[in-house]
Amino acid sequence: MSFRKTFFHDSELDRLESSLTELPPRCPPSGISILIVGAGPAGLFAALECWRKGHDVRVIERSSEPTTAGDHFSIAPQIARHINTRWPGLAQQNEAIADDPWLSIHRITGEVIKGPGPLSWKDEDDIGDYDPLLPTRFYRHHRAKFLRMLMVAVRGAGINITYGQRVVDYHEDAARQVAGVRLVDESGGGSVGATTMEADLVIAADGVGTKSHGAVNGHDIRAESSGYSLYRTCFPVERLAPYPELAHYMRPLDNGHSHVHVWAGLGVMGHATQGESWGAQVPVENVLQFVETMPDGGLPDLLKDLIRATPDDGIVDWKLMLRDPQPRVASESGRVVQVGDSAHTFLPSSGDGANQAMEDAISLASCLHVGGKSNIGWAVKIHNKLRFERVACAQIVGFLRFKQTMHPPDDKPSSLVSGPTSPSPSLTATTTTKPPIDLRSRLGRWQWAHDPEQYAYDQYGAVLRHLQMGTAFRNTNIPRGYEYRPWTFREVMDLVAQGKFLELGGDWS
Ligand SMILES: Cc1cc2nc3c(=O)[nH]c(=O)nc-3n(C[C@H](O)[C@H](O)[C@H](O)COP(=O)(O)OP(=O)(O)OC[C@H]3O[C@@H](n4cnc5c(N)ncnc54)[C@H](O)[C@@H]3O)c2cc1C
Repeated sequence: MSFRKTFFHDSELDRLESSLTELPPRCPPSGISILIVGAGPAGLFAALECWRKGHDVRVIERSSEPTTAGDHFSIAPQIARHINTRWPGLAQQNEAIADDPWLSIHRITGEVIKGPGPLSWKDEDDIGDYDPLLPTRFYRHHRAKFLRMLMVAVRGAGINITYGQRVVDYHEDAARQVAGVRLVDESGGGSVGATTMEADLVIAADGVGTKSHGAVNGHDIRAESSGYSLYRTCFPVERLAPYPELAHYMRPLDNGHSHVHVWAGLGVMGHATQGESWGAQVPVENVLQFVETMPDGGLPDLLKDLIRATPDDGIVDWKLMLRDPQPRVASESGRVVQVGDSAHTFLPSSGDGANQAMEDAISLASCLHVGGKSNIGWAVKIHNKLRFERVACAQIVGFLRFKQTMHPPDDKPSSLVSGPTSPSPSLTATTTTKPPIDLRSRLGRWQWAHDPEQYAYDQYGAVLRHLQMGTAFRNTNIPRGYEYRPWTFREVMDLVAQGKFLELGGDWS
């Protein structure tokens, strides 16, 4: 059985598939018809939030069936809180399927640096302080199970999801006040662009390779390679049986928590750049050959056994793609709007791509609720204004954290703290001996204490006045005291390569 089929037949997926989700109350119908392209976290969560706000929703998805691809991501406190307080049925399932692992960190040589200890979103220094906004546990999710949970709720709400529909482009018609897509019906072998679909609003939730930039920005804006890629895999622990030492090592802790092991080595992540996407599989043998080329004799035997235990079609070589922050995520009339990875790219080290995708969904559905059918364009523009700076802040933190993951936690990252001040026009670098932002801590409070739904209701009027009459408006969902200035990934990469810390200003803790 192939790696992907293994997950497709996972009994927990089957259980989720046949479950029913208790749905929350729904707002009265808004009369707004919405077509969502993509059934990833952004698309499915947008479907649910738009349904809850009374909008009329359909979803189309390129894959022929619900995806089982991918490994894990974490759901941050603001999303867990939103689910717990607005979606009681989902909250129950979320509790049941999410993992709450403990973490150990090792040097590449095997020596334990710290752990095992609970995973937390808080700074390590004040981890013991009680904060009512923080959940008492961690939510680590298998992507396929999380998506299946959302999909079951979407179906339960009576929202139609049609698979095998690949969108080739987006358009809007300002005069008719509609937007639409051309698509290929891949289930029926249709020809390119033969079918069109229209709605009052089209939400592009089609991920990093979105086809919506033509409609939004007038030209394509491709995500570029960061120069890094990850080998990723995920497989049932039973496959470790032929390796007893490894199976013992990977067993759950005596307290019942599963155990995440991080092995950190300098520069290890800098070499693998082969694949293009989640479909880019790489043979186990190639990965074993690659690790032999790593510094200091490669990986310890235990980790090589882990690679050997991986199913033949089980390793994905995932290229890390970056697109500079795009201030504009909606078309001229606001009838096509991007959410999730189609609007902004995140590196896995951010721990925030899925969270920001779901924040987008919540914010957009709420703005449309306030604006109503006659103000779709304004509602979308207000959503855009509320989201852009916050997302750009989350992107830069995630990117810098990625750079820092190449330094094991107790090694002084001295190469990052010297050098002359940056010549960059939009970013300044520092020569202090301490990082201005402690990126080794978890998400900042400005990230996890946020309530995107409440924020949209609170700020809608102020942004509308700002856009229509030019009154002053400042977002408060970004680090306090930080003044957003445009930046590019290239600038940041160059500064970091020169061994500098960025001086961003404001409170990022
Ligand atoms: C297969 C896959 C596996 C992933 N696994 C992980 C993981 O293990 N860990 C992690 O942290 N992140 C993973 N990610 C990324 C992560 O899920 C996203 O970064 C994040 O959650 C944002 O979600 P999104 O819905 O915006 O985009 P995505 O998750 O990329 O979802 C986009 C959806 O749109 C569909 N789509 C794309 N193009 C078209 C088109 N032209 N027409 C119609 N539909 C289209 C895709 O099939 C997909 O279902 C994965 C992404 C994908 C696509």
